Amino acid sequence: MNTPQAGRILIVDDDPIVIRVLASALGNYATLMFATSGSEALEMIKRHDFDVILLDATLPDQSGYDICKKISSQLENDGVQVIFVTGRTEIDAETRALSYGAVDFIRKPVSVPVVQARVRTHLTLKQRTDQLKLLSRIDGLTGVANRGEFEAVLKREWATARRQQTMLSLVFFDIDHFKKLNDTLGHQIGDDRLRAVAQLLASAISRGNDLVARYGGEEFVMLLPGAPLSWAQSMAETLVGKIYSENLPHPKSPFERITLSAGVACVMPEDDQYDSLIEKADQALYKAKTKGRNTVVSYTP
Ligand code: GH3
Ligand code: MG
Ligand code: MG
Repeated sequence: MNTPQAGRILIVDDDPIVIRVLASALGNYATLMFATSGSEALEMIKRHDFDVILLDATLPDQSGYDICKKISSQLENDGVQVIFVTGRTEIDAETRALSYGAVDFIRKPVSVPVVQARVRTHLTLKQRTDQLKLLSRIDGLTGVANRGEFEAVLKREWATARRQQTMLSLVFFDIDHFKKLNDTLGHQIGDDRLRAVAQLLASAISRGNDLVARYGGEEFVMLLPGAPLSWAQSMAETLVGKIYSENLPHPKSPFERITLSAGVACVMPEDDQYDSLIEKADQALYKAKTKGRNTVVSYTP
């Protein structure tokens, strides 16, 4: 079995001997942190991301089962793997633990090789799941976020902007005459150009909540939370200018090179109609196309 990459494990137990045994068994597999009560454990999972939590079923302040339930609801879809470690021998202890959201069950007194094997398995599974989750949000061709991820982020940022009464800007970029490029130079070159455009757009954003995504085909979106229209418009103009000056050949374009058209929209959300921002940017993009392409248009009602 593969040794997983360094993970993070939280060991929750009020018995110092158990902590010591688990620490020496697992120290080579992961970064370890410790808690000796339920409330301490809940505090720690608020502040740190763990891959695996080893949880004593009987703690001084609350039962491990209750904590397990709280962890599951606190972390929602975080995928943290809770393993119960307990000396309880009741017939239903194991099934109870599993029904509260634990993924595994280890009996005390702990056997070091058993703990090591099980923890390694769960660390590996957790890391594979994390990787799949990451991949499911990325566009395979260009490496930027995909449309599903964009929509999830837009929904979230829309809600934040509505709550905080701040601006939310969106730029829609579309490659001009892209079909003709495919038809003349082939799909391979088309794909290369898509990657080049994605890279250029992605390299332009620097603030944590900004996002570039491939919306579909040869269309990209740039979400700029907190940015006023003027900022988004000048960002779009800079990028349209940059791709023009890169001078990537396009024999069938009137510009004889790859160019972009962009539509910009900015709102301060007042309802939950986040789709309206996409519609506005899309309408502005349509105007940029009819104006002759290689240009930026901002939405006006
Ligand atoms: P306009 O200037 O009006 O935007 O014209 P256009 O040709 O760029 O737009 P249209 O929507 O007619 O064509 C988009 C083309 O994008 C058609 C499709 O073959 C191509 N396309 C979509 N996805 C991919 C892809 O993943 N790779 C490649 N190479 N081409 C793609
Ligand atoms: Mg196009
Ligand atoms: Mg298009």
